[in-house]
Amino acid sequence: MIGCKDDDLVVGMCMHMELVPMPAPTPTPLPHPFLATVGDPSRAAAQAVGQPMKAASSDDDLAKRPVTINGALATSVGTITKNSTALPHVPLPPGTGWAPMPKPPKPMVGILETPPPPDLPVCPAGDALMDAGSSAVNFGEGAIVRLGDTCASCSEPARQVSTVIAVPVGPPVLVRG
Ligand SMILES: [Zn+2]
Repeated sequence: MIGCKDDDLVVGMCMHMELVPMPAPTPTPLPHPFLATVGDPSRAAAQAVGQPMKAASSDDDLAKRPVTINGALATSVGTITKNSTALPHVPLPPGTGWAPMPKPPKPMVGILETPPPPDLPVCPAGDALMDAGSSAVNFGEGAIVRLGDTCASCSEPARQVSTVIAVPVGPPVLVRG
């Protein structure tokens, strides 16, 4: 299956709680499309800074070198992808604003070794945790995510399944297993 990389797509559908006036504002679940481009800016920045230092030092670890597909960073299980890069959630009619909802903590999977800070209850988290990938193939530090793999977008009260759409922008990199 085609390997996933930065700027590929995650598509799905979330339910989010909005305040609907009827006549008193009432928290109501409404469907919202989820669309994000893959990429974790903090991870990319850390690698841009850390990689030249690692390469220059003697303890360079091959497994920790960034691996690219068609020139973009390959996507490992545990990547958090934000929808602010594609289609941020906004309140949709008949809702007039977000209804605060507590968010469950993200599980630690793949390269997500420390729990990220809890998502604020005031609005949707606007992200997807890429929690599924190859069971047999690692690219660098983590299991590689592939076209058609599922991930967990920010739906409320529990995260929902979204789907990874990996599109080759050069010779396709196929992952077996
Ligand atoms: Zn969402």
